Amino acid sequence: MTTLRLVLGDQLNASHPWFRQPEDGCVVVMMEIRSETDYVVHHAQKVLAIFAAMRRFAEALQAAGHRVHYLRIGDPGNRQGFAANLQWLAAHYQATRFERMEADEWRVERLLDEASARLGLPTTVVDAAHFLSERGALAQVFSERVPRLEYFYRDMRRCHGILLDDHQKPVGGRWNFDADNRARWPGEPPAPDWPWTPTDVSALWQEIVAAGVRTLGEPGADALGWPLTRSQARAGLQVFIKQALPHFGRFQDAMSTREPLLFHSGLSFALNTKMLHPREVIDAALEAFEAGAVDIAACEGFVRQILGWREYVRGVYWGRMPDYAQTNALDARRPLPRWYWTGETDMVCLRHAIGQSLRLAYAHHIQRLMITGNFALLAGCDPDAVDAWYLGIYIDAFEWVEMPNTRGMSQYADGGLVASKPYAASASYIKRQSDYCKGCRYAATRRHGPDACPFNALYWDFMLRHEADFAANPRMAMPYRAWQRMDESERDATLTHARYLLEWLDTL
Ligand SMILES: Cc1cc2nc3c(=O)[nH]c(=O)nc-3n(C[C@H](O)[C@H](O)[C@H](O)COP(=O)(O)OP(=O)(O)OC[C@H]3O[C@@H](n4cnc5c(N)ncnc54)[C@H](O)[C@@H]3O)c2cc1C
Ligand code: SF4
Repeated sequence: MTTLRLVLGDQLNASHPWFRQPEDGCVVVMMEIRSETDYVVHHAQKVLAIFAAMRRFAEALQAAGHRVHYLRIGDPGNRQGFAANLQWLAAHYQATRFERMEADEWRVERLLDEASARLGLPTTVVDAAHFLSERGALAQVFSERVPRLEYFYRDMRRCHGILLDDHQKPVGGRWNFDADNRARWPGEPPAPDWPWTPTDVSALWQEIVAAGVRTLGEPGADALGWPLTRSQARAGLQVFIKQALPHFGRFQDAMSTREPLLFHSGLSFALNTKMLHPREVIDAALEAFEAGAVDIAACEGFVRQILGWREYVRGVYWGRMPDYAQTNALDARRPLPRWYWTGETDMVCLRHAIGQSLRLAYAHHIQRLMITGNFALLAGCDPDAVDAWYLGIYIDAFEWVEMPNTRGMSQYADGGLVASKPYAASASYIKRQSDYCKGCRYAATRRHGPDACPFNALYWDFMLRHEADFAANPRMAMPYRAWQRMDESERDATLTHARYLLEWLDTL
C-alpha cells in the first residue's frame, strides 16, 4: 500500500502536518517540469530560486527520514507534466492512493484534477496549512460581493485578535495609519543592505539552460540573492524587523534610484513559496511593537499588507475566477511597449523600475503600481499582456496574488472590484515620491512639447478617454474640475501630444 504525496514548488511548508514525522508507505513526490516553466516566460532568477529551494526542501525531508522521489528538469525519465509523471510514478511504486495539497492557482488546480482523474486512484486534497483564511469560505464571500479592503482587514484583525485592546478596539485608536505613510526618502536614514547572502547556483543554471527553458532577465546564477531555505528566510525576517520595519510605514510609498528595497521586507518570495508562515511574520512585527522597537504606524502598516492585502487578493482570485482572467473593463487593447523587456527608455522612472526588475526580479509595490502599472494603464495596454509581464518578471509572482493586483488594483480591468478608483497619476506624483525626475531628460512639469513628461499628456488623455466611466466617481471629481479650468489651447495641445505619444510608444 503506497501513497504518493505531491508537493509543488510553492508548497515548501516544513510545518505542514504531512512532515511531522516520516510515514511508512508514503512517497513524497516533487518535480521540476516544463509545463510550469513554460506557461509564461519567467525571470531566470524565479526559475532558479524555485528549483533551488525545492531541491533543498527535498534534501531536508530526506535527512529527516521521509522517502522522496525528486524529478529534476533534465532527468531523462521526466515526462515534464503533472499527469504523465504521476502516472509513471504510480506504476513504479504500485501506488494505491494519491494525496495532494490545495494548489493556489486555478490553472494548477485544473491540471491536478485532470491528473487525478487519469490516475484513477482514491485521492485526497488537503489544506496547504498556510493562509490565515480558509479558501472555500473566502471564495464564497468574495463570489457574492467583494468587500472593501478596509472592512475585510478589520474583520481579520478581530478574527485573529491582532492589534486590539482589551475592549476589542484598535490599538493606537485607529485601524489604519496609511495617511502617515507617504514620505519621500531624503537619503536618510540609510536603507539596510540586501538581506540575503548570495548563493552560487551556476550548476543548476546549466541544467535549466540545457533543458531549453526560455527565461527573461539576468540569471545572476553565481550569486543568487534570494532565500532558498527556511532558515535563510527566517534570518531575512529578523534583519527586516530590526533594521527596516521601524521606517517601513513612513517610506512605504517612496522610490529611489539608489535603493531597490528601501525599507520593504523582500519577504514575498519566502511567503509565497510557504517557507515562511504569514502568522510568524506578523508575530515578529507585533513583538517588535510590544518591545517598543517600532511605532504603531510602522507595525500596523506592515501587518495590513499581510493580514489584509495578501489574504484579500486571494479572496478576489478564488471568488472570481475563472471569469476574472477575462476582465477588460476599460477595453484596453495596445501591446506593451517593447522596452518593458529591456528597460531601454529615456524615461528614468521606467528605465529604473524595469532595469531593476530585470536585474533583481524584484520591484517594490509602488514601483509596480505607480511606475510600470500606471504607465500601462494610461497607455491603454491590454491587461492580458500586462498580466503576463508581471507574472513572468517577479520572483514572487504566482497568479493568485499577481492577477488581482495587476488586473484589479493596477489596471482597473475588473471595473473597480479591487480599487475604488484607478491608480492613474501624472508626473507630479512620481516627482513627489521619488528622486527619478531630477535625472530625467523629460520635464515633470510640462504637458506638451518634445521635453514634456509623457505621463502628463497620457494622464489627461486617459482621464478624458474614460470620462464616462469615472466622472460620477466623487473621488475623481477634482481632476475633472482642474481640466475644465485649463485654457482650451492648453487642453488641445495636451491631447494632441498624447496622440503623438500613443503612436510612438516604442520610441519613448
Ligand atoms: C501590478 C502589481 C503586481 C503585483 N504582483 C505581485 C505578485 O505577483 N506577487 C506578490 O506577492 N505580490 C505582488 N504584488 C503586491 C506587492 O507589490 C508585493 O507583494 C511586494 O512588492 C513584495 O515585496 P516585499 O516582500 O518587499 O513587500 P513588503 O512591502 O515588505 O510587504 C510585506 C508583504 O506584504 C504582502 N503584500 C504587500 N502588498 C501586497 C499586495 N498588494 N497584495 C498581496 N500581498 C501584499 C507581501 O506578501 C509582502 O511580502 C503586486 C503589486 C502590483 C501593484
Ligand atoms: S520626468 Fe516623467 S518620465 Fe521622467 S522620471 Fe519623472 S515622471 Fe518619469
